Amino acid sequence: MNGVRTAIVTGASAGIGAATARQLAAAGFRVIVGARRLDRLKAIADEIDGLALPLDVTDGDSVTAFCDQIPACHVLVNNAGGALGLEPIASADESHWRWMWEANVLGTLRMTKSLLPKLIASGDGHVVTVTSVAATDTYDNGAGYTSAKHAQSALHRTLRGEHLGQPIRFTEILPGLVETDFSVTRFGGDAERAAKVYEGLTPLTADDVAEVIVFAVTRPSHVNLDQIVLKPRAQYSPARVHRE
Ligand code: NAP
Repeated sequence: MNGVRTAIVTGASAGIGAATARQLAAAGFRVIVGARRLDRLKAIADEIDGLALPLDVTDGDSVTAFCDQIPACHVLVNNAGGALGLEPIASADESHWRWMWEANVLGTLRMTKSLLPKLIASGDGHVVTVTSVAATDTYDNGAGYTSAKHAQSALHRTLRGEHLGQPIRFTEILPGLVETDFSVTRFGGDAERAAKVYEGLTPLTADDVAEVIVFAVTRPSHVNLDQIVLKPRAQYSPARVHRE
């Protein structure tokens, strides 16, 4: 495939998405980034000579407006999402659940559905979805997030069969603990509580995950990396972590 390939990264104003946008640009992609916090997004786009467009994946109109501005694309990284709260099912906060399902599951559905025709038309399309180890494991108090990530993973994996034989690849990335704003958001801005999540171990960095995403999308076009699980050495499962 000749020429510059275009990559779309959702949730690129911070963390894994920002690192992925930077590394894709360094690998030669033209990168279009989307998120809600435009000031942060624009700073990243300027840095990598990319394009920043406002995007709220929980809002169908916002997704349509974003995708309408993309004439052609080869790679979509469904990264926007995250967790809110950590509470048992017995006292589940429905507004937390609704947001997690909207952002992680329906957000991935909306973005993928909108861009699939352009990705396939490129002749070498690739959808990367950042789920989590929470897509294959459950843990106490985490069902709002783990159920959303399980559903996001099921959606993503179904695409592989539905588009078998077409010029498009699908890769699911399942990270363990990555130190980003993820836990600060989950705990409603409580930075002290968030820091405890990563205490006593060396977590993954956003760059560790970005590097794997770039590896997946730069394989020859006949190679499909279906699922990649990456964790810190000190993490066996979401609930089983070795701390010094
Ligand atoms: P982060 O630093 O909090 O970044 C989350 C990004 O998602 C931000 O750029 C945020 O931007 C964006 N976002 C949130 N809601 C959005 C919406 N409605 N529309 C568009 N963008 C939205 O967290 P992160 O760790 O990089 O998380 C990225 C992905 O990795 C998530 O799907 C998360 O579930 C997954 N993940 C994280 C970990 C971890 O340990 N950190 C592990 C496994 C998987 P705006 O606020 O500007 O919109």
